[in-house]
Amino acid sequence: MSWFSNFIALFYPNTCRMCGTPLLKGETTLCTKCIASLPYTRYWEYEDNPVAQKFWGQINATAGCSLLHFRKGAKVRKLIHKLKYKGNTEIGYKLGYILGLHLKTSPTYADIDYVVPVPLHPKKQQKRGYNQSDYIANGVADAIGAKWTTTIVRRNTHTSTQTQKNRIERYQNVRSIFEVAHPDTIRGKHILVVDDVITTGATIESCAAELLNAAPCRVSIASIGTV
Ligand SMILES: [Zn+2]
Repeated sequence: MSWFSNFIALFYPNTCRMCGTPLLKGETTLCTKCIASLPYTRYWEYEDNPVAQKFWGQINATAGCSLLHFRKGAKVRKLIHKLKYKGNTEIGYKLGYILGLHLKTSPTYADIDYVVPVPLHPKKQQKRGYNQSDYIANGVADAIGAKWTTTIVRRNTHTSTQTQKNRIERYQNVRSIFEVAHPDTIRGKHILVVDDVITTGATIESCAAELLNAAPCRVSIASIGTV
């Protein structure tokens, strides 16, 4: 934001979180211009997209996609930083809602029952005060007309820290960090697991794998950003 945008923000506190201009009636969190300028992947339009391909041969996911390209130094990266570390949780809801509007246009995601955020480690969540993915899941669920819940999957607290492990050990460790609290609730359902950014995909894959192991169900994967 320029000094002028900051100055304007003093008088119009309801400003775009990306460019700082005052929001117009009907706009929330992001202005129409910024929403139009986001680097969309359009991965929801085809099933063999690069995000879905990350999980091929690993888990039997129904579908996978991300909303935005998350390139280093890009404006969208700053936006996610505000969401994750500056308490701007409404950015998560807004981007989740935009993701949901696009998913709605694809028949693959039409019958989703539950939107489940990837849980943070409880210590991390306590430190941050919130899980950014909760807000993303809430936005997606509202846009597609599904339920969102944080109670189906939980994070095991007894898993060790990952800093002293090599890559293979780390991968094995990540595979058992989640547990499904209520397997009966997901029987026969289509669940969308969401996270903020997919890089290797190992964490979200582990979460999806636990759901698939817990009961006969279908699981799809989505995130706001992908590298
Ligand atoms: Zn803007």
